Amino acid sequence: MKILIVEDEQKIANSLKKGLQQELFIVDVAYDGTTGFDLATSEEYDLIILDRLLPGIDGLEICKKLRGENITTPILLLTAKGQVSDRVEGLNAGADDYLIKPFAFEELLARIRALLRRPQNTTESNVLKVGDLSLDSSRFEVTRDQVLIQLSQKEFILLKYLMRHPNKIITKDEIMSNVWDYDSNILPNTVEVYIKHLREKIDKPFKTKKSLLKTVRGFGYKIG
Ligand code: CA
Repeated sequence: MKILIVEDEQKIANSLKKGLQQELFIVDVAYDGTTGFDLATSEEYDLIILDRLLPGIDGLEICKKLRGENITTPILLLTAKGQVSDRVEGLNAGADDYLIKPFAFEELLARIRALLRRPQNTTESNVLKVGDLSLDSSRFEVTRDQVLIQLSQKEFILLKYLMRHPNKIITKDEIMSNVWDYDSNILPNTVEVYIKHLREKIDKPFKTKKSLLKTVRGFGYKIG
């Protein structure tokens, strides 16, 4: 899945890019409206994150122009203004959703997932597999042997990180810096707790099968 970020505040743009890449998205960034519009019309994206106030062409104007050219890519508008009239204006210009700054990365992700779940965008899915365990990023779904497993958002992100590196030892430090990037005050003990929870969900109910999540004493964890 490919996302275009059009945002002139470089700090925000770069941190969004980093976060979305960790969620397996391919990300392009434009720091002004003109470049953003050019990219949006010349490349194919699954979603566009568009800041409203931009140098070059304004975000609302980009929305209108894209829709005018029959480009139907979902647009998530970022706005610093929270008034009802502004939101209506954004949606009228052709945006599919909007988010008011400042926002939590988790909320942005949830909205992106919701937009990508819409029927016109189900052309591709992000499915990771380890043995009979399967994780679908775009549908936020985990199954083992076709049985649906309920995970919290954080458990899901942790499992995804492990499944991206099957049969490789992952240290606690690696988990802390890759899974908890946006939270603070994380302790090594917290990782242990989450690993325990995951094990109870992906291994324990499947006793007749081999355990997938292993502790490598003194080193870390391994899935496979
Ligand atoms: Ca801006």
